[in-house]
Formats: sequence, C-alpha cells, structure tokens
Amino acid sequence: MRRIGPNSFTEIYFAGCNPSFVETSDGYVMIDSPQQPIDAVRWREQLEEKAPIRYLINTEPHGDHISGNAYFPKVTVVGQVKLQECFDRYLNAFGSLDDKRERYKQMDPDSVWLVGHPDYPASNPPTLTFTDTLTLNVGNHTFNILHHPGHTAPQTSVYVPEEGVVFTGDNVFHKCRSWLQECDPWEWLAALDQIAALDAETIVPGHGEPCGKAYLKEQAQIVENWVGFVERYVERGIGPEEILKEPVPVTRQDPYPIGQRLFMHDERLTGMIVNNLHTRILAKKQDAGAGQA
Ligand SMILES: [Zn+2]
Repeated sequence: MRRIGPNSFTEIYFAGCNPSFVETSDGYVMIDSPQQPIDAVRWREQLEEKAPIRYLINTEPHGDHISGNAYFPKVTVVGQVKLQECFDRYLNAFGSLDDKRERYKQMDPDSVWLVGHPDYPASNPPTLTFTDTLTLNVGNHTFNILHHPGHTAPQTSVYVPEEGVVFTGDNVFHKCRSWLQECDPWEWLAALDQIAALDAETIVPGHGEPCGKAYLKEQAQIVENWVGFVERYVERGIGPEEILKEPVPVTRQDPYPIGQRLFMHDERLTGMIVNNLHTRILAKKQDAGAGQA
C-alpha cells in the first residue's frame, strides 16, 4: 500500500490494476476495485473495520478494474454512462464464473471459494452515472470525476484537489507497456493534455507506480509512436495481416516491458494494437478524403 497524498493510498502490488482509496472525514471513496476476489474481500474488511465505504468510482470497463466490484455489494458504484451500458459485456468477456474458477485454480487458489459465493452478486455495475463530469463532496474532500475518453470510450479520471492527486486509470501506463487495443489515439492525446492542465502533483496511473506530470509527455509519445508506425503502412495500402507477418519492432514504439502479471498477453497485444490503429487511421483517412470531395 503506497501513500500518495495526506489521506490517499494506492495498491500497486496486486495482480490487476492499481485500486486506490481516499480516506475522508465521512468514510472512504475507492477508485477501481482489486481484481482478485481474495484481495477485494480482504481490502473491504480492512477498510470497513475503520469506516464505511461511501463510493466506488470505476475509471474504465476492463476486467482488471471492474471485476472486483462484486465484492463490494453494498457500495454505490459510480461510472460514466457508457460504462454502465457496456459493464456486463466487458465483465462477461473477462470470463464466465466457470472460466474464472478454472483460472483461479491455476493462478490464485485462495480466490476459488469466492467465485460464485452466495454473499456476492456476479456483477455490480454503476448505479450513479454522469456524461461529462460529476462532483461528489464527501466529508472534507471533493471528487471531480471527469470523462476523459482515450484508452477506452468511457475512460474517467478522478481529480481530488485536497490531495493534489489525479487517478487516471489506463490513460497512463507508467513505465509498463501501454495497451492501445481499443483506444481512440487522438482522444487519448487530448485527455493527456486535459490531465496535464489539472492542478495535481501526483498521477496515479492504471498500472505502474505513481508518477508526476513530466511522464505525460512520454505517455503521449508512446501513443504517437504507435500511430506513426501504423500510419506508414496505411499510406502504402498495406493491411494489418501483412504488417503482422514481420516481427513488429515493439520496443521502438514503447520501450517498457509488459506490466503486472500480464506476460501471457504479450504476443496477442501487439496484434490487437496494430488491428485497432489500422482500422481507425484508415477510417480517419477515408473521412478526410470524403470531406475534400
Ligand atoms: Zn487496466
């Protein structure tokens, strides 16, 4: 557990994302939930020993940020309106209860008994939603919840001015491989500018250690490198299958290793990034062409 502000903490050592919380004078506000059921349950019991958990704010719909919500069944979940719409689709893509049970038998036997446990629902989607922004005042703290699409469409940052902290979810991967498998890269770059404009000293990324604003430039460069790499093929009319026939020089686009127990996705991720960016760059080019005609 890492302290990142006078009353805020993040956990960077779990399998999954960096779940975080702020301790207010009126209970806890969480940002994302621990992915592994046993981590989620321990976390909830430890917090509730001291004070109630008022809200759980999700930053994005990927399973490593939302699947643990189920272990906070009485907590109000907050999310961007598109996140509410796609919540169960993403959760199911993360695996059925049977899939999860099998997976945990291999990777996390302590969690097996909690999969499908009768005390917990299979899903706990947001019930409090917003479109662009939402401000929650809890105790003496302000939570500015901001729609910052990029890494995913419902992507959300949580800025807490009293702590000088912004929680960005996966719009920031600090010194670990960036996942661009479904992003809109141009929205992502705009989101990084918006994050840079906040009066925050500390950035809590979705993955990797907390960092400062200086890293945002590096994050933008990684997104730009990938776009530039795929753009050169789009211009020559070369499709994703052909690009992927040759080894992709991944470290030239993104120098960082794949993060927190995600090694099994290393090969697959490159293909997903190339396919996503190729589709988006081609569509943008065609739109621009249609605009000129
Ligand atoms: Zn993530």
